[in-house]
Amino acid sequence: AGLVVAMDGPSGSGKSSVSRGVARALGLRYLDTGAMYRAMTWWMLREGVDLTDPAAIAARCGEPEVVSGTDPDGPTIHVDGVDVAGPIREADVTGAVSLVAAVPEVRARLVALQREIVGDGDIVVEGRDIGTVVCPDAAVKVYLTASPEARALRRSAEVAGSTVEAQREAMARRDTLDSTRKTDPLSMAEGAVELDTTDLTLDEVIAEVLRLVKE
Ligand code: C5P
Repeated sequence: AGLVVAMDGPSGSGKSSVSRGVARALGLRYLDTGAMYRAMTWWMLREGVDLTDPAAIAARCGEPEVVSGTDPDGPTIHVDGVDVAGPIREADVTGAVSLVAAVPEVRARLVALQREIVGDGDIVVEGRDIGTVVCPDAAVKVYLTASPEARALRRSAEVAGSTVEAQREAMARRDTLDSTRKTDPLSMAEGAVELDTTDLTLDEVIAEVLRLVKE
């Protein structure tokens, strides 16, 4: 089977940039599982599903067709044929995604889809539960962290019109929801290497992961 690199960690830890850089350097595919939870959330919002009602989310989560591309140079995400790459980064989706991702039926469906895409490997997969649930046999497992300040700074640089303080608060809320939910909470996988990216440049983090792959 081909190589699988599992890249987990909270938002703003640098997962996406690092994962894409590593995939590019090694000629591997790339899967952003967070984009799939965001796509599911975008669809639920459009359908007007009550996101405070897990049973309502569970009842509908089998309906949308979520299709994710795996090219690290141009990640794509479609829901029922609609390109949602832009909308899934908007504040309404970001604010609601942890509620949707906490529903076991949503996770079961998306994890199955993710395993299908991973298939025989040759892929870098980023998310919250990749090393623990989606790909527990991954040859390389990385857990990226960074200080709350560094994470909020990076996020506010990505999101137009947001302040560092607002980002810090929104991320803290999402972290708490993601790490305390009952199904597949964000946690470090057995055998994962923790990498604190606070004082490293993107290229330094990528180089460190490439070193882990070669070991
Ligand atoms: O990584 P990103 O910020 O796009 O993830 C959005 C949300 O999707 C996370 O806050 C989390 O609630 C959920 N998620 C998850 N499991 C994953 C990836 C993302 O629960 N593997």
